[in-house]
Amino acid sequence: MTFTAPGPDRAAHLRGDAAALARLLETGRILPMWRGKPLLSASGGLGWLPQGHPVLAHGRAPVFLGLSGETGWFTQDISDWTPEAGAEAVQQGFLDASVQTHPALPPEAGFHELRAVMTRLAPDEASLAATARAILHWHRSHGFCATCGAASDLAMAGWQRNCPACGAQHFPRTDPVVIMLVTRGNRVLLGRSPGWPEGMYSCLAGFVEPGETIETAVRREVMEEAGIRIGAVRPVASQPWPFPASLMIGCVAEAETETITHDPAELDHAMWLTREEVLAVVAGERPDLSMARKGAIAHYLILNWLADRGD
Ligand SMILES: [Zn+2]
Repeated sequence: MTFTAPGPDRAAHLRGDAAALARLLETGRILPMWRGKPLLSASGGLGWLPQGHPVLAHGRAPVFLGLSGETGWFTQDISDWTPEAGAEAVQQGFLDASVQTHPALPPEAGFHELRAVMTRLAPDEASLAATARAILHWHRSHGFCATCGAASDLAMAGWQRNCPACGAQHFPRTDPVVIMLVTRGNRVLLGRSPGWPEGMYSCLAGFVEPGETIETAVRREVMEEAGIRIGAVRPVASQPWPFPASLMIGCVAEAETETITHDPAELDHAMWLTREEVLAVVAGERPDLSMARKGAIAHYLILNWLADRGD
């Protein structure tokens, strides 16, 4: 599963130490992010830059990601930069395949949609990119105090926002999402959301609502989306999913009923597939169907289910 490596030490004790952070920044590495897209170098890894690089001229305040040895890792949002070409090419569809290049960088370097490159990154780099994407999105979308509406200030090296008007402190949010492999004997329940690529199916998923346990959220979501009653629920894994700020909580859930009544507002279609049918899809023998993206927790849940049955 992508994004699950622990990454460097987050060194939270340094977040309030402006002098230490300034020293780390002088020799540190900075990952520029443009509108949620990390810079990739010519070699295909993350494109770390030194302080003062021309690409960072449009950067907002650096956010401290962590420390490994003497090296400090930072990220900076350069979304205010407008590429000479390519900004208008950003696609609004399921996956943005456009790549933006910067005149101060080699032509092979560019800003890529993270979902498109996540499985090519080394585990620690993928985790750093996920952290950077999620925290910078939080700053861009939470610039005003939720209590009084005044503009808030970045604090604690990017891990807090403070309101100068009312004194409220705000912290980066992570939204829990349950994603469940629903089984009934030898079959698994898979669905597709409106707007997904033709033939693509995955596990059902939904946001945990206030006041819910993980298990309650699984039962409610599956009933709402597919009309299936769920018995036992077992959380098995989790994955940060910075699109924009989710924590996916993977569960295995046992269905007690079989008749699907899908909610067209939530699901385009849902169906039961046997283990043999899912194996055929994973093996590429069903051109009409495709599975959850490699690296995503749904892919992991499905492969684990197949493996548990002795294949
Ligand atoms: Zn306020």
